[in-house]
Amino acid sequence: MRVGYGWDSHEFKSGIPLRIGGLEIPHPKGLGGHSDGDVLLHAITDALLGAIAGPDIGTLFSPSDSRWKGADSSVFLAEALERVTSAGFQIGNVDSTLILAAPKIGPQADRIRERVAELLNIPADRVGIKAKTPEGMGTENAAIAHAVVLLEERPTGSRHTKSTRKATRR
Ligand code: MG
Repeated sequence: MRVGYGWDSHEFKSGIPLRIGGLEIPHPKGLGGHSDGDVLLHAITDALLGAIAGPDIGTLFSPSDSRWKGADSSVFLAEALERVTSAGFQIGNVDSTLILAAPKIGPQADRIRERVAELLNIPADRVGIKAKTPEGMGTENAAIAHAVVLLEERPTGSRHTKSTRKATRR
């Protein structure tokens, strides 16, 4: 088993869409950044990469690389997931906490959970989405995300495991 941890923050900016967990959330401000600013997917991506002692998201997808300008962050998550699979692991579960003053995440949490689970190819009851407001932190103009993942060894004998192993032996 492996555990991974990721953290990210992005600043709110007017006039751009708010993307959290691979979904567009109705709000007058979005999260700035080189990519689509999806703070939750970035934290989960780093948690997956950390669990396999891989390079972090900024190393794999440099903000100075024009290829990732405005990029859909699900691309980053997919790369991390591919590396997890190649390393012989599968996701046990993911848990996360968002810290932001607005919008309220509670009413959207189930939708975000479903979308993140879909992107990770795991059941929605293996994805935790929690949210808090930044009481006393002074980070009202930012969205912060913490994420942890538990990885399990892929069972030997499963088709995917065999083909993955063959590929890594070459
Ligand atoms: Mg980020």
